Amino acid sequence: MIVAVASGKGGTGKTTVTASLATIWDGPLVAVDLDVEEPNLHLFLQPAIVGSETAYMTVPVVNEEKCTYCGVCSDLCQFKAISVMNRLILTFPEMCHGCGGCLALCPEKALSPGQRILGEVSWGRAGKVDFLTGRLRVGEAMSPPLMRLVKGRLERQLSAGGGDAVIDAPPGVSCPALNAVLDSDVILLVTEPTPFGFYDFRLAWEAFAPLGKPIAAVINRAGLGHDAVYRFCREKGLPILAEILYDRAIAEAYARGRIIADISEVFQAIFVSLRDKIRDLAKQNNSREAVHA
Ligand code: SF4
Ligand code: SF4
Repeated sequence: MIVAVASGKGGTGKTTVTASLATIWDGPLVAVDLDVEEPNLHLFLQPAIVGSETAYMTVPVVNEEKCTYCGVCSDLCQFKAISVMNRLILTFPEMCHGCGGCLALCPEKALSPGQRILGEVSWGRAGKVDFLTGRLRVGEAMSPPLMRLVKGRLERQLSAGGGDAVIDAPPGVSCPALNAVLDSDVILLVTEPTPFGFYDFRLAWEAFAPLGKPIAAVINRAGLGHDAVYRFCREKGLPILAEILYDRAIAEAYARGRIIADISEVFQAIFVSLRDKIRDLAKQNNSREAVHA
């Protein structure tokens, strides 16, 4: 099972929920930080990194001796990353999405694969769980290709060793956030009961609901008094799997980089219960899919 922990906005407690779930998980687990623009799950889990590799993306390189300036490549590229004007051809590697289309279609074989550095993929061990993360190169704008490389490694790790994964997804509802939850079995939306929290929570639900995956909510800083998120969950049939009270002990633990589930047995029990409810939700969905198959 892959659990994606997402949120409509940053600062809701998504990473602390991910770290706490990783800490109380009772089987083989890979904790994955897919928030590659600002990865910070490692600050909580403190993994021992055992390996890393530079992540590259394939971009076209032109051999002008072979190029006939036919324009097939520039007509194809939806991202304006290659441009042909009369007898001039220009490439813009930073705009290339690495689809490989121009390389495949060039009739003169005038394009060859070059490389652009996207960032780094690293892995290691945090206590009893495996850890995997990506970090986008400073100045690099395209996080989805790096995220795909991290997910590729996750897939290989899960195929080889089995077990589950919990993913710390990027906040928001843009391309990277959708990319992070695409392969998950359950999406957990972490929010807080405030007008801002509710607004972004609703956006996230609208973005993720069409994926047809089971979605559930975790209300962090519960007790702040704004109840729109509760009404919305009732209306949409969204289960609230956990409520984490607004508590000074959590703020202090957070400031020290500590994991909520480690604060006390009470908090630990909240996350054990959350884990069990996530499993139930995934099972219910599997049974529903089996009936409709
Ligand atoms: S498709 Fe190939 S030959 Fe045609 S302009 Fe592009 S690089 Fe040159
Ligand atoms: S690889 Fe794809 S995105 Fe990149 S220049 Fe070629 S067609 Fe455009």
